[in-house]
Amino acid sequence: MTDPRQATTAPLTPVLTRRWSSPRSWSIDTYLQLDGYQALRTALAANPDQLIELMKASGLRGRGGAGFPTGLKWSFLPLNDGKPHYLVINADEGEPGTCKDIPLMMADPHSLIEGCIITSYAIRAKFCAIYVRGEALHALRRLTAAVNEAKAKGFLGKNILGTGYDLEIVIHAGAGAYICGEETALLDSLEGRRGQPRLKPPFPAVAGLYAAPTVVNNVETICSVPPIVLGGADWYRSMGPEKSPGPKIYSLSGHVTRPGQYEAPMGTTLRQLLEMAGGMKDGIPLKFFTPGGSSTPIFTPEQIDVPLDFDSVAAAGSMLGTTALMCFNETVSVPWAVWKWLEFYKHESCGKCTPCREGTGWLVSILRRVVSGQGVMADLDVLTDAASNIAGRSFCALGDAAATPVLSSFKYFRQDFEDLITGKTPPIIVAADLVGA
Ligand code: NAD
Ligand code: SF4
Repeated sequence: MTDPRQATTAPLTPVLTRRWSSPRSWSIDTYLQLDGYQALRTALAANPDQLIELMKASGLRGRGGAGFPTGLKWSFLPLNDGKPHYLVINADEGEPGTCKDIPLMMADPHSLIEGCIITSYAIRAKFCAIYVRGEALHALRRLTAAVNEAKAKGFLGKNILGTGYDLEIVIHAGAGAYICGEETALLDSLEGRRGQPRLKPPFPAVAGLYAAPTVVNNVETICSVPPIVLGGADWYRSMGPEKSPGPKIYSLSGHVTRPGQYEAPMGTTLRQLLEMAGGMKDGIPLKFFTPGGSSTPIFTPEQIDVPLDFDSVAAAGSMLGTTALMCFNETVSVPWAVWKWLEFYKHESCGKCTPCREGTGWLVSILRRVVSGQGVMADLDVLTDAASNIAGRSFCALGDAAATPVLSSFKYFRQDFEDLITGKTPPIIVAADLVGA
């Protein structure tokens, strides 16, 4: 792991958020004034394989949470197999605490559209679907308007910029199910079926939308493509650590003086981000935080100097995930937070596999008992056992994610659960609140 004191601190000239403060930043006129669609002209003059090599050389890793190398993913699509290729954008941002893709689409929709056109050209796709979270109707409208503007200017549709390349982009609204952010459930939903995960492999790169080779990429990943085409791989690699280069949008929420989106090089620490965000609200100290949303093991102030990049966070025992830094101060009960997260996972479990469908329900029931002061010490062993049997035994990552808050909070804060059981800490909810729950 990188020595935290040597974490990347170089100030960043904004890349992904650089247009956000411009007047009417979402309009094509503003976008064109600020280098918009220049990268597309450069890309269309290149060979698709050169663009894939450029993405590989840049070191860009997927911003949806898993950090899979983007250029490598694009290169997996088989050539000459006679099937159409598709690009699908995962804009179903739903991980608790995550708020970067919707602001990106609202403030700078054309950077996503331009990234989609370049990516589609590189992977030899003529159809691209952007799957937007159902609740984000405002983002859906903004993207639809941007697609229409791009079409009117000749950046989309038939014979783009006279090159003979054709591309159609469709904006599709999900219906608000968290599981549809899982890429294969998203594909099923896009095909008109109930959104439930498919068995992987085959990965979408081989059998994706309508069983054809498909690249599924996150919004922030694709918004990174035009700057890389314009700036080049070396420029991109000049920001952040060698194995996780580039700029990143970190979402800070919770007890932070100025919560919001902060763009910084990969490898920036929470301490540095809090300095940008005015520190912890009212000066009340930090108790715990998630490095990348509720699906990632929690950290304590001891990890405040861990560089927030894929490898450093993994080495410290968690995952970078979506860089959703939910910061909780000392007034917060950890068992209460874990219970709330588990209510979410139980509600969002798609029901396809038993460990997650049944197990999340058990976890919620026991956690409710504990936070209402009705728990017994044996409950904590059952919680550990149930969570350990959900993790690694479920069909998709949601099961692992549901087990994570329980297992990671026990690592640091088991005493907080015990204190609720022994009565040292008063109940957080009264038993009457549980009637009918
Ligand atoms: P994954 O590691 O299984 O896959 C990541 C990507 O790489 C996928 O697109 C997958 O198709 C591709 N891939 C992996 N191995 C491959 C191979 N051998 N061949 C071809 N392609 C391959 O992770 P995942 O289950 O897609 O995502 C899990 C992550 O999602 C978690 O880290 C979590 O942080 C994140 N997440 C994000 C949100 C959100 O709102 N953005 C919500 C929930 C979870
Ligand atoms: Fe559905 Fe949960 Fe199983 Fe995933 S782990 S398939 S969300 S029941």
